[in-house]
Formats: sequence, structure tokens, C-alpha cells
Amino acid sequence: MTALTDLATAVGTGHVEVIDLTAPLHSDTPILQLPQQFGQTEPFQLHEISRYDDRGPAWYWNNITTGEHTGTHFDAPVHWVTGRDGDDVAAIAPSRLIGPAAVVDHAAESAADPDFLLEVEHLEAWQAEHGPLPSGGWLLYRTGWDARADDPDAFANADANGPHTPGISPTCARWIAEQTDLLGLGVETVGTDAGAAPTFEPPFPCHAELARSGKYGLTSLRNLDRLPPTGAVVIAAPLPIVGGSGSPARVLALVERDS
Ligand code: MN
Repeated sequence: MTALTDLATAVGTGHVEVIDLTAPLHSDTPILQLPQQFGQTEPFQLHEISRYDDRGPAWYWNNITTGEHTGTHFDAPVHWVTGRDGDDVAAIAPSRLIGPAAVVDHAAESAADPDFLLEVEHLEAWQAEHGPLPSGGWLLYRTGWDARADDPDAFANADANGPHTPGISPTCARWIAEQTDLLGLGVETVGTDAGAAPTFEPPFPCHAELARSGKYGLTSLRNLDRLPPTGAVVIAAPLPIVGGSGSPARVLALVERDS
């Protein structure tokens, strides 16, 4: 297995850089807020059990409470009604948690228009330049939104009409589901759908199409600007919550450097 020996050596020397695509997880980590008639997810919280005190003189530990879909997290197919017979997050084969990354960069368009939507033409143009989207790989959609991730209001970017965050058009979501062999889609925003997606026809098309086709979602990613358009390998590691619809995940990218 020289490939693995070579990989370990390359990580040690920095020839392969490990880039963390994960947002820190804390009580202010932005979470999705749905219209008030719906059930709501809870923020991440630590609940101290003991800290070198009467409750445990030599040890520090916490309980945690969190929604499954908090911070950088993984959407399993069963998250959406269109994938209700699909895999829960614990059922996903571990070999499907690692794959090559295709990075599309629309940060400039998203800065100019926070409601920017990725279209099929954008992906066709990317493929014309970089080759086909990778079978068994991740499509990572850079919008620059991670720069807002420490400010929940700027991250949600909501007004009286709801949130304004970039996403994917219904046609493009269907195209990804039906015309690609991707593992799934990763985004920098709080969810895979655009902020305005509740008003789309159909609503939440990205969730619906990814789940219908057995594909996965990754959200609240960071540092996509440090990845090349092709050549990175992504490891997305959700907790194996039995029956879970998703999980906070540690998402790492391996990138080969020249030096
Ligand atoms: Mn989610």
C-alpha cells in the first residue's frame, strides 16, 4: 500500500496540505430559522458536567445539545421527504464519505447579488474549462458567504421578505440530481438551498432533488477559496447517528502543493 505510505509522508512534509473546511462549533454558530409555524432546530450548547471540582475533581467534560443540522453539517437523503426511503446518516457507506472535489467559484456574482443562483450554464462552462464533474465526488459551491459566518445577522441576510443568500436554481438542482454522478453538493451558506428557496417552484428544490437522487449535502463550509478548481480530495465525516437525518461533520480537504 505505497499510496497510503506516500500520503502519510506527504501530509507530514506539507506536500499534501490538510485544509479544514469546518466552522467552529459554539453557542453562537448560526442556525436555520424557519417560519414560526414550523418546528425549530436548537443551537449548539455545552452543559458542563464537571471541571476539576467537586463534581469531578480530576476531569473536565460536558454534555452537549445540538440540532443535527447545526454548523458545518451533513444532510443525509432521509432528511427530505423525497428521500424518505433513502439512507439515514449512519447508513451511508464510509467509502462515500470521501471523494474528489470540483470547486465552482461564484463569489463575485454573490457579492453583487446575494440572491445569485447557480445555473446549468455555469456548470457547463466549468466543465468546458476543467473537464467533467467527478463521478463519486463533491461539487463545492463557493459564494464567499463564509466571510459572514461569524455574524449570524449578516449570514442570514434577512429582510421583511425573508433571507437573501445565494443558492441553486430549480433547473440546476434537477440537473445535478439527474445528470451527474456526484456524491453531493457542499455550500458555504446555512443550507444547500438559496435563502429565497421557500418561494421557489417547487420550494427547496436543492434539498428535494439531492435527497430524491440519493445525494448528500454539506453546509456552512469554510476556506473553499483555498481549494483548486480540481484536484482536492474531501473527507466529510458526520457522526453515525442511527436513524439521524444529518449530523455536524468535520470536513477536511487534502490539497497537493508544489513545494
Ligand atoms: Mn441540513
